[in-house]
Amino acid sequence: MAQSVQVGGDTIFGKIIRKEIPCELLYEDDKCIAFNDIQPQAPTHFLVVPKKPIAQLSKAEDSDAELLGHLMIVAKKCAVEMGLTNGYRLILNEGKEGGQSVYHMHLHVCGGRQMLWPPG
Ligand code: 5GP
Repeated sequence: MAQSVQVGGDTIFGKIIRKEIPCELLYEDDKCIAFNDIQPQAPTHFLVVPKKPIAQLSKAEDSDAELLGHLMIVAKKCAVEMGLTNGYRLILNEGKEGGQSVYHMHLHVCGGRQMLWPPG
């Protein structure tokens, strides 16, 4: 595997992490990146993506616990920055029946409208 692919992984999100393709960046640190979704499903819809290329939640290891918690902390801080004062929804799509399309795990944060339940 080429060195450039090891950093961030070989998906569209890996390319975003490596700045090979652009995104609307909201937040970045050494462990993760947050950026607006290209096809927003709500007035505010951004993604929080670990830089470690974990393909999907089911592939995460016990040693990833701190990183997964960090994603949620970053999600809630970005939600404040985005003005989501009346609530929002965190979504993690896992695998085929979960509706996952990019196999680099990530949190969706959606808000700015009333979210519905049950989800589709
Ligand atoms: P999933 O279906 O895997 O849970 O979510 C993948 C998300 O990534 C989708 O909401 C999709 O719109 C978003 N996405 C896919 N390609 C790109 C891209 O190139 N840039 C950005 N910003 N979002 C993307």
